[in-house]
Order: sequence, then C-alpha cells, then structure tokens
Amino acid sequence: MERTDAGQARDQHRMVVQRVEELLALHDPAATPAVEFLGARFDAGLAWVYFPEGHGGLDLAPEAQGVVERELARAGAPNEYERNVIGYGMGAPTVLAHGTEEQRRRYLRPLFTCEEIWCQLFSEPGAGSDVAGLATRAERDGDQWVVNGQKVWTTLAHTARWGMLVARTDSNAPKHQGLTYFVLDMHAPGVEVRPLRQMTGDAEFNEVFMTDVRIPDSQRLDAVGAGWRVAMTTLMNERVAIGGGVSRRGSGPIAEVLDIWQKAAPHVRTPVRRDRVVSMWVASEVARLTNMRAREMRKAGTPGPEGSVAKLAGAELNKEVYELCVDLLGMEGTLFSTHYEMRRPDRSAFAGGDDVRHTFLRSRANSIEGGTSEIMRNILGERVLGLPGEPRADKDVPWVDVPRS
Ligand SMILES: Cc1cc2nc3c(=O)[nH]c(=O)nc-3n(C[C@H](O)[C@H](O)[C@H](O)COP(=O)(O)OP(=O)(O)OC[C@H]3O[C@@H](n4cnc5c(N)ncnc54)[C@H](O)[C@@H]3O)c2cc1C
Repeated sequence: MERTDAGQARDQHRMVVQRVEELLALHDPAATPAVEFLGARFDAGLAWVYFPEGHGGLDLAPEAQGVVERELARAGAPNEYERNVIGYGMGAPTVLAHGTEEQRRRYLRPLFTCEEIWCQLFSEPGAGSDVAGLATRAERDGDQWVVNGQKVWTTLAHTARWGMLVARTDSNAPKHQGLTYFVLDMHAPGVEVRPLRQMTGDAEFNEVFMTDVRIPDSQRLDAVGAGWRVAMTTLMNERVAIGGGVSRRGSGPIAEVLDIWQKAAPHVRTPVRRDRVVSMWVASEVARLTNMRAREMRKAGTPGPEGSVAKLAGAELNKEVYELCVDLLGMEGTLFSTHYEMRRPDRSAFAGGDDVRHTFLRSRANSIEGGTSEIMRNILGERVLGLPGEPRADKDVPWVDVPRS
C-alpha cells in the first residue's frame, strides 16, 4: 500500500526528535561550547535537515526543520544565527546548489558553526537594483583571478571571513552573461573594509574596496560566465530569509504592539487606535499564513517568486508595525536613548533588538535591503500576475556599450 504524505511526515517527525534527543544526550547544551555544539549538530545532520547527508542534513523535507529548531530552543541549545545571517540564509544554499563536492566540504561546516562568517558582495555605487550592471572586474591570470572594484552596503563585512562576490569577467558580453561568482577571502591582501553608519548609530554595513586582490580559481562557484544564475540562487534565498519566516501566531513584531497597547494609559487606548492595532494583527496573521502556504508549496530547492512576494509583504508590514509602536508610545517614542558614537555590531539588527525605538529606525531599511519594494512589485507583476515586462533596452547590448552614469 502506498504511504500517505501524513504518514511520512509522522515518521520524519519521530526520526528527527530522536536525533535531537541523541544530540542533547551526548552534548549538554549548558556545558558545551557553542562551536562544539554546533559542529556536533552539523555532523548529526541537524543543521539543515533538507540538505544532503554528509553536508549538515538528512535529505528530509524542509518542514522537519521547524521541529529541530523548536526542540533545540526548548533545550536551551546555542543558536548563532544572527551572527551569520547571510551565511545561513544565502551562503549555505548557494554553496550547496552551485559548489563542487570539495567546496561544500570546505565551506558548509565552519559556516554553520560560525567559525567563518559570510557576507554578500553584490551592490555597488552604480549597481543596486540593477545589480547585473555591476562594474567590479575579475581578470584571469593562470589559475588565479585578479579583482579590482568597489562594493557597498556590505552587511557584516567587518566580521566576515568569506564574501560572495559577483564580478564581471567578460565586458563584451551582455550584462547578465559576463558575470562570474567567487568566494572571496575577506582577509586577502588588497581587501579594504570601511564602515558606513546608519541612522540607528550602528555601522552594520560597509564599503569594500578591492585592489588587485587575487582569488584562486578553486574559489570560483560554478562556471565562468554563470555568475548571474548563481546570484539568482543567492537572491531568491535572501528574500525568503528576510520575509519568509513562519513564527507562532501573535509572536514577533506584532507581539511588541500588543505589549505596548496593554501597558498604555487609558487615554492612549482610543477606539481609533484599537482599530489600527487590530488591523495590524490581522495583516500579520495573513502574512504568517501566506508564508506557511508558500513554505508548504516550496518543499525543496531554490525558491521562486513567492519569496519576493513574502519579502515585499514582510518589509512593508514591519515598517507599519514599528510605526504603530512608536505612535502608541507617544512622547516616549521619540526618546531613543542612544549616544551617537558609531557602534560596530557583530550581528545584523534586521530582525529587531531590545529597544523598539531602535527597531523602528532600523525597520526603515527593510524596504531597501534584499531588493527594494518597487523591485519586488515588478517581480510580482511580471512573474506572478503575468503583466507586461519592464522595457529592458540594455539586455542584449554588450556591457561595454551601455552608457553608465
Ligand atoms: C540595511 C541594508 C543592508 C544591505 N546589505 C547588503 C549586503 O550585505 N550586500 C549587498 O550586496 N547589498 C546590500 N544592501 C544593498 C541593497 O541590496 C540595495 O540598497 C538595494 O538593492 C537598492 O539598490 P540601491 O541602493 O543602489 O538603489 P537604486 O537601485 O539606485 O534605487 C533607487 C530607487 O529607485 C527605485 N528603482 C530602481 N530601479 C527601479 C525599477 N526598475 N523600477 C522601479 N523602481 C526602481 C528603487 O526602488 C529605489 O527606490 C543593503 C541595503 C541596506 C539598506
């Protein structure tokens, strides 16, 4: 008799819970250093259960990952996700999809243990939304590449060991075709990282200058000229990582609204504001359920346009939710008690922090980072609704012949 999906899901659930119990029995989370615990978790296939065996996974469906996260969180196991958001959300799936067996073995484990932090070297001063127009060049020199150019807005470049670098290797090809993808050693001679400060006072991101930086060809991901395809894997995963999370009903940003609402003085709790709070709660629940549905549909592999839709909805909602928080706080909402000395965080604050006023300021970046809301709307229009595409006059023109501003 054919096994039902529900039956398979139950078996997977049982197997994963058992594996987690074994891991916890051998490595007491309270007494084991984080790196050691995470290494053991990787070796047990519990890093990303939907990855292949031997690469931190068990070849299971992605839904089983939620079970792992819940059980480990309950046991107080270390979780370093925020120190390596780009590595976890984008580096790992990109290496898995496009790396050789040797590259997977080299990069995935230290990425997961956070011994090696990753950053994303895509955006440039002249190429953000139109990242395929980028100008950083990589020229072949024997079994090495020599890189010159500048990247910008590079989150956590100051803590990173590896950077996902897209560079132009053929200027005579149309813009999407002349790109190649590398893993750049951020400690290599010629790499200079300079802080860029945000309005929160934090410098989470950076400018990165590359002058005659040498990259061994063994650090190229996928074929020469295949950089755009690899970059799409990174970008699609980025959108899911930013907007595609599925948390418990009523948790996350909307819980902060409710907390402030419940503590607010009676004169603040007017019917009009109550209406706004309820609308936000409903919108948050709709986003949560939509993400849940997208996750079920996705199963495995590189996410499609649903990731961009989730990113768009999540970014706009987050901005509104934190705006409501500071509105409800009234005058107190303006008293963000920071000093304006530059701080260099070792994690991205995109998921929020301790002070809701800080999170409000940080949330303004949500509709820019990982692709702007306008670009997400273009993707939604073209790839989901089937509307006519944007005019792309430079698509088939050699990159060298495209006028640059
Ligand atoms: C907090 C934060 C962290 C970031 N981290 C990273 C990182 O780690 N690595 C990295 O590579 N990049 C990073 N970025 C950069 C981010 O990806 C870019 O800022 C973004 O893609 C927009 O590019 P841009 O800033 O050059 O704006 P532009 O592309 O110049 O856009 C300017 C305006 O024009 C609009 N626009 C542009 N093209 C179109 C179009 N075709 N249709 C409609 N409207 C359009 C945009 O929506 C925007 O409003 C980060 C950005 C932020 C804010």
